[in-house]
Amino acid sequence: MSGYKQIFKDKLQSGQMWLQYCLDCQRFVYYPRERCPYCWQDRLDWQPVSGLGTVHSYTIVRVSALPEFHPPYIYALVDLTEGVRMAANIEECSLDRIQVGMPVHLKIINREDNAALPIFIPV
Ligand SMILES: [Zn+2]
Repeated sequence: MSGYKQIFKDKLQSGQMWLQYCLDCQRFVYYPRERCPYCWQDRLDWQPVSGLGTVHSYTIVRVSALPEFHPPYIYALVDLTEGVRMAANIEECSLDRIQVGMPVHLKIINREDNAALPIFIPV
């Protein structure tokens, strides 16, 4: 695993989400990578993020890909207030309550293999 992906995972494991931040164009970057996808410079710093966002889109998963999650469950694209979009499960939300634009916040859970996994729950 590359160093920047390990940093992301280590921060999650310690209970916080940190994302790369481009010092040249001053935008957050996700997923972790070597160069900024907007300006192609490589001066990427790390900063903690709020964990707040809104649901951009979602789907209902009916066949589980991860043993921790029992279908049906919600898998969504979440727009963080920092301007990045990430895919994650939505928990603590009934299937008839989920909607595009719903405010959510980050929750970090530990998978069965102890790897930290970011999910979101309704605000
Ligand atoms: Zn940049």
